[in-house]
Amino acid sequence: MFEGREVDGYATPGFKCRMTTQPHPHLEHDFMGLAFRQAEAAAARDEVPIGAVLVDSTTGQVLAADHNRVEELHDPTAHAEMLVIRAVSTGRKEKRLPLCDLYVTLEPCPMCATAISFARLRRLIFAARDPKGGGVEHGPKIFQQPTCHHRPELFGGLDETRSATLLKTFFQSKR
Ligand SMILES: [Zn+2]
Repeated sequence: MFEGREVDGYATPGFKCRMTTQPHPHLEHDFMGLAFRQAEAAAARDEVPIGAVLVDSTTGQVLAADHNRVEELHDPTAHAEMLVIRAVSTGRKEKRLPLCDLYVTLEPCPMCATAISFARLRRLIFAARDPKGGGVEHGPKIFQQPTCHHRPELFGGLDETRSATLLKTFFQSKR
């Protein structure tokens, strides 16, 4: 059961989520906890269980929380990171979000890493590294490319086990 205030700025209208606790707005594990609850909600809906939360770093306010919706929207770009960035930038009518921090349960893919750079996000915090599909520490390493003009502050590997277990359980159930 979730206690606490409702989160404003849902990426999808009608989709509700709540913070469990709000002892201090800047406690990072709260934001990652919220991202994980999104990921779990995704698994329950047969979406790849990855969740993301976009936070205003100046206020600690959660601006958007969402999970992968590739199946639901029939949209190969509907990754959690893309959805929260789009929700906030279009909602604010601002193409750049330099004061925002993104919490995501898995290392972003190259597409999302590029979007993070384009949005000029301040910080990227991800729970587990993804050697197979990640684009930050693996594959094209987007932020290290000379064509990349903005590199967020990076914090990777915050909670490898929880994220990996979630994904493993999901894909095992698909077999
Ligand atoms: Zn992605």
